[in-house]
Amino acid sequence: MNRRALITLFFRYEPYILLTLVYFLAGRLGLSIEPVGTFATFVWPASAVALAALLLWGYRLWPAVFIGAALVNLSDGATIFAALMIGAGNALEALAGAYFLNYYVGFQPSLLRLRDNIGIIATAFIAPLLSASIGIASLWASGARRITELPSMWGAWWAGDALGILILAPLLLKWFSRPRFERTAGQYIELTLLTLLVFATSLFIFWLPQSSYFTYYVFIPLTWVALRTGPRGMSLSIALAALVALCGTLLGHGPFANGSLFQLAIFSATMGTVFLTFTAIVEERKHAQQELARHVTELETTLSKISSEDEAKKNFLAMLAHELRNPLAAILSSAELLRLESHEHSESALLVNTIGQHVNAMRGMLDDVLDISRISRNKLALRKEVVFVEDIVDRSVESTKPLLQSRGHRLHVHKPEEPLYMEADPIRVEQILVNLLNNAAKYTNPGGTIELSLRDDKNMAVLTLRDNGIGISRTMQKRIFEPFFQVQRGKLPTEGLGVGLPLTRQLVEMHGGTIEVKSEGEGKGSEFTVRLPLIRGRVEKPAKKPILTGTGNRTLRAVRNKRSILVVDDNEAAAHALKRLLELRGHEVHVAYSGLAALEAARMADHDILVLDIGLPDIDGYEVVRRLKQDNATNAALIALTGYGQTEDKEKAHEAGFHYHLTKPVGLKELEKAFKKALSSTAAASVEG
Ligand code: ADP
Repeated sequence: MNRRALITLFFRYEPYILLTLVYFLAGRLGLSIEPVGTFATFVWPASAVALAALLLWGYRLWPAVFIGAALVNLSDGATIFAALMIGAGNALEALAGAYFLNYYVGFQPSLLRLRDNIGIIATAFIAPLLSASIGIASLWASGARRITELPSMWGAWWAGDALGILILAPLLLKWFSRPRFERTAGQYIELTLLTLLVFATSLFIFWLPQSSYFTYYVFIPLTWVALRTGPRGMSLSIALAALVALCGTLLGHGPFANGSLFQLAIFSATMGTVFLTFTAIVEERKHAQQELARHVTELETTLSKISSEDEAKKNFLAMLAHELRNPLAAILSSAELLRLESHEHSESALLVNTIGQHVNAMRGMLDDVLDISRISRNKLALRKEVVFVEDIVDRSVESTKPLLQSRGHRLHVHKPEEPLYMEADPIRVEQILVNLLNNAAKYTNPGGTIELSLRDDKNMAVLTLRDNGIGISRTMQKRIFEPFFQVQRGKLPTEGLGVGLPLTRQLVEMHGGTIEVKSEGEGKGSEFTVRLPLIRGRVEKPAKKPILTGTGNRTLRAVRNKRSILVVDDNEAAAHALKRLLELRGHEVHVAYSGLAALEAARMADHDILVLDIGLPDIDGYEVVRRLKQDNATNAALIALTGYGQTEDKEKAHEAGFHYHLTKPVGLKELEKAFKKALSSTAAASVEG
């Protein structure tokens, strides 16, 4: 065989050759240290080499262990039979250990989990039973040893193999496996310093003539290592401490110098077992904390994403509802116009009525959606004042009358003798009742009976609304106050958006009240009860407020006071419809479609009233009014007519100098009421001025 072939052969069998060599050297080293009966020793690093090699690079390497062990024993004078048997025993020990760890423990050489460390400890104590038993039996069978020598040899053999695995295997596994050493410079320095500390302490204990009192001092730096460096530092420190202890003891130093290696073995076994376990526990805890922190961060990210998505949805809803008001305004004004121009009872008049009703229904829904989104963004403020509850009941009944009548329902209202007062936002309390009345009207078959009663119960106003309508099943009763929830009843299309009741509940709760529902089930009617806190004691009866409804007179009489009005709106259809409507009322109307055009028109002619949209293409309505006021260019009554109906918008309009704020869409009645109010405040201002 030439050199080239030899080299090829070497590289082909390189792992086997290297392992055989390392195993042989480790074995020779072990047997050179105080062997018991030549063949057994307390120091057998070869068992760790074999186990680590099979775990890291596969079972296929077992022949190298077999040959290595056989060669060590042959070199020590064993018979071929005994050497082969011992080789087989040692290979079996490594194979059984590796198989146990892989199969039952699911071993990971990084030793980060408690199970891996416990697995190694168990393997260290169990697997050597095989090699010690087979080895000793074959020595006895080959006649090399007498039976009386066997127990002490077996003990040393088992202990040597066990200690080898316990002390050295973690070091080999950890340092030869991936991931490699990935630390920061600081951690690297800490590891080095701590390892040096373990080394120094071990030297102090095992090289200087100390009493055994100090033996366990080495546990102090080891504890530190366990807490700070994990299995990598620990495997190194254990091996280092054991090595120093062994050398010191062999040289006759330290606490075990007068005893036997057996005591050192017990010490090393304790150290290995305790600290491998301890490190793994610390490591698992750190890992769990990191996982927890990771989950918390993930959760926080998800939550903030959800809340920003939620915010975006709410903003979108608010914007959508607001944008839809503009076209509605145009439809409403046009419908009013058509109604005025059509003959009473004609088909077109009926159609126009239907349009009007539906626009009003849509307006109601948009308002509800806006309110819900405002409440969820904490942007809805109550304007509380002392109110006479009966008035609110009257107003609510009045505004739901058209719907109740159109469905042919009978409404009975019961009110108490004594007047009841609350401190509440009258608009919102009316909204609560209107929502409930509308639902009663919607969810009761035509010709139904609805009862509304108001009574005083222990300082609470109790409003009960009972209908004999389609009812609500018990399971659904729990859910109807959830936003956007609607009871699905067969294939019937649902009316509304499912925001009425949640909004109603929110408004009731904002007033410190409660709302509950009762129904005997489907088809058996429903009863809603609202409780709101009353004020006790003598209360000045507030002035009765006028009832505002969207339904106006069908025939339009020209007003006595003809006014000159400037309508400003960039939505040309809406502006035109409003102009026609006001003209039919006998007013003189001009139109402008932008802020600058409005300024010019207002400066050119004297107007009694300016009706201004806020969102204009060039300068907004606020700015128009500001500039007009600055130049003293107008004394007109200024009315903002916008899709923005929030309290801040009203305040902003007031600050800019408007006399009145209207939210689109508005009917003629509301407009004229606004004219009246705005004109009276300009008159008051001029009297004051
Ligand atoms: P919407 O009426 O727009 O669907 P609501 O929030 O006002 O939304 O009501 C939620 C659901 O509760 C309705 O879909 C309806 O099925 C049920 N509901 C409300 N009021 C009544 C009632 N008086 N009778 C029967 N069902 C009702």
